[in-house]
Amino acid sequence: MIRVEGLIKRFQGNAVLSGIDLEIQQGEIIVVIGPSGTGKSTLLRCLNFLERPDAGRIRIGNLDVDAARPRKADILALRRATAFVFQNYALFANKTALENISEGLIVVNRWPKDKAYARGREILERIGLADKADAYPASLSGGQQQRVGIGRAMAAQAEVILFDEPTSSLDPEWVEEVLGLMKQLAEERQTMLVVTHEMAFARDVADRVIFMEGGRIVEQGPPSELFSAPRDPRTRDFLRKVL
Ligand code: ADP
Ligand code: MG
Repeated sequence: MIRVEGLIKRFQGNAVLSGIDLEIQQGEIIVVIGPSGTGKSTLLRCLNFLERPDAGRIRIGNLDVDAARPRKADILALRRATAFVFQNYALFANKTALENISEGLIVVNRWPKDKAYARGREILERIGLADKADAYPASLSGGQQQRVGIGRAMAAQAEVILFDEPTSSLDPEWVEEVLGLMKQLAEERQTMLVVTHEMAFARDVADRVIFMEGGRIVEQGPPSELFSAPRDPRTRDFLRKVL
């Protein structure tokens, strides 16, 4: 369903992604792990065109985009196909939970407000925050804010949701409720690409785990294989530190 070929990204001449090839099937749950500074966020940001890749192709469904020379319509279409969940939630502080979830439907998808808010309320129900529709982010816990961040991505009905360390900013007490919502989405076979340091989540939920280092995919496989019998010494070294 999604195919990335030869994705390269440089910052000030330094290659941060050195030719990423990646295929994602519909309904697949992929977890990306690896040391910090390795290009995990940059990979996700390139897929969403928050960063402009220097080379490569990105194919999603019928879209086939030359990542270095995208047409404006390609960028919009890729953004529609990929929803992003940020580490720091990135909610609008001056909008309620319902407005945060519905905003994209109104602005990007041009839905009428009443239809967008009706969808927003359905999503609030699904994320267990129906009673918080009119609450502003500052009055919500970190866990609730990130559930709204995930709700916003759910509302977009994208082909794939990209999660960039969705629990890393949370106080420990809120981590489980956010992982629980992500598990719920995984059970519904929402296609997901998740960067996380939550190894138990990776082991329990991922169909495939990808280990990245130095801007490359070093090794990938089902969690049962990658965690118990990593082949590459760099993977073994990383896992020894985090498991
Ligand atoms: P990870 O998410 O694996 O920790 P990142 O993708 O955030 O890694 O970063 C990879 C490398 O690219 C790091 O060395 C980082 O400093 C660099 N980098 C990321 N974003 C920028 C940017 N906007 N400008 C310059 N360098 C960047
Ligand atoms: Mg990162």
